[in-house]
Amino acid sequence: MSSPESLQIPAELLPRDGRFGSGPSKIRAAQIDALAHDARDFLGTSHRQSTVRNKVGEIREGLAALFSLPDGYEVLLGNGGSTCFWDAASFHLVERRSEHLTFGEFSSKFATVTTTAPHLEDPVVISSEPGRHPHVEVRDDVDLYALTHNETSTGVMMPISRPAGATGLVAVDATSGAGALLVDPSQFDCYYFAPQKSFASDGGLWLALCSPAAVERIETLAASGRWTPAFFDLKVALDNSRLNQTYNTPALATLHLLASQISWFNENGGLAFSAGRSARSAEILYSWAEASDFARPFVENPEMRSSVVGTIDFAPDVDAALVAKVLRRHGVLDTEPYRKLGRNQLRVAMFPAVDSEDVAALCASINWVVGHL
Ligand SMILES: *Cc1c(COP(=O)(O)O)cnc(C)c1O
Repeated sequence: MSSPESLQIPAELLPRDGRFGSGPSKIRAAQIDALAHDARDFLGTSHRQSTVRNKVGEIREGLAALFSLPDGYEVLLGNGGSTCFWDAASFHLVERRSEHLTFGEFSSKFATVTTTAPHLEDPVVISSEPGRHPHVEVRDDVDLYALTHNETSTGVMMPISRPAGATGLVAVDATSGAGALLVDPSQFDCYYFAPQKSFASDGGLWLALCSPAAVERIETLAASGRWTPAFFDLKVALDNSRLNQTYNTPALATLHLLASQISWFNENGGLAFSAGRSARSAEILYSWAEASDFARPFVENPEMRSSVVGTIDFAPDVDAALVAKVLRRHGVLDTEPYRKLGRNQLRVAMFPAVDSEDVAALCASINWVVGHL
C-alpha cells in the first residue's frame, strides 16, 4: 500500500491521450494541424466575407449529409451555446406550453426557462430519478415536447421517437448526443447541440437541425408580435444562417475545428462510423465495470446506459475522487463525476474523437491505482 501522492502508474498502462472530459472534450491533433495550416488566411479575417461564410456553408451542408436530413430541413446556427438556445426556444419554438422530460441537470434547466418565462404557461414537467429517463405523456395542450438525447450529468441516453398521436413539435437537446448516437430525422423537429462535445471543437455556438414544421413555428411566432430580444430571435438566426452567417461575430477557430470533425465523420462513413466509435468504447467501459469487484455501471438498465458518457459507481471503500486525483496527476483528465450528482463515481466521456484503446487503457490504469491504494 502506498500513499496516493507517491503512486506512479506504469507508463505502458496509461492512455495515449488522457482527455476524457464531457465538454470541452478531446480535440484531435489533425483538427489542430488543419487549423494551423489555414490560420494565415482564415483566423483574423471578416466573418462577412467568403472565406468564413464558405466554412459556415461547409458546416451546414456537412451536417445535412451527416444526419441525412430530408428535403426542407434547415441547419441554423447562432452564438451562445445550447444554454442560449433554451432561451431562444422559449421565444420562438414554444407557442404556449411545453412538456419536459427531466432526468438530470441539463434537462431540468430548460424546464426552468419555460417555467419562469412570463409569456408562457407553466410547462408539464415529467421527471425521473437520476439514472433513468421518464416517458412522454401525449397531451392536447402541449405544443412542444422537450426531450434530451443524452443526459450528460447522469450518463443516461434515451431513444428519440415522435410520440404517437402528438401534434406538438419534438425538440431534442442533443448537445452531447449529436454525432455520437444514431438518430432518424423524421422523429424530430428540432435537434440542437453545441460543438464542444461530439464535434470536438470549442463552446459558444449552438446548431439546430430544424424540420419544415419547426421553421414554420419560428416564422409564425416571429410574426406574432411577441417581444423578443434580437439575440434570442430565431427568425434573425434563420435569416442569417441561410446566408451562412451568424447574427454577431462567431469564434472562427470554433467553426474551423467543427468543420474538420464533420468532414472526418462524413469521409469515414458518416453517423454509423462516429456512433460506432462511441459504442465500441462504451462496450469496453461497461464490460470492465461489470466484471470489476469494486466498480459497476451507475445506470441499472443497460438500454439506458449512455454510449457517450459513462458513469461508473465505486464501492464505498474505494474513494473515486482520490482515484480521479491520481489519474489527473498522470495527465488523465476530467474523469471526476458531475459535481451536483454527488456520488462516489467517475464519469468518462467517450465521444467519437476518443480512441477505444484509450478507454481500455483508462480501465487498466484505474485497476492499477485501486490495486495500489
Ligand atoms: C453541455 C450540455 C449543455 C450546455 O451546453 P452549453 O453549450 O455549455 O450551453 C446542455 N445540454 C446538454 C445535454 C449538455 O450536455
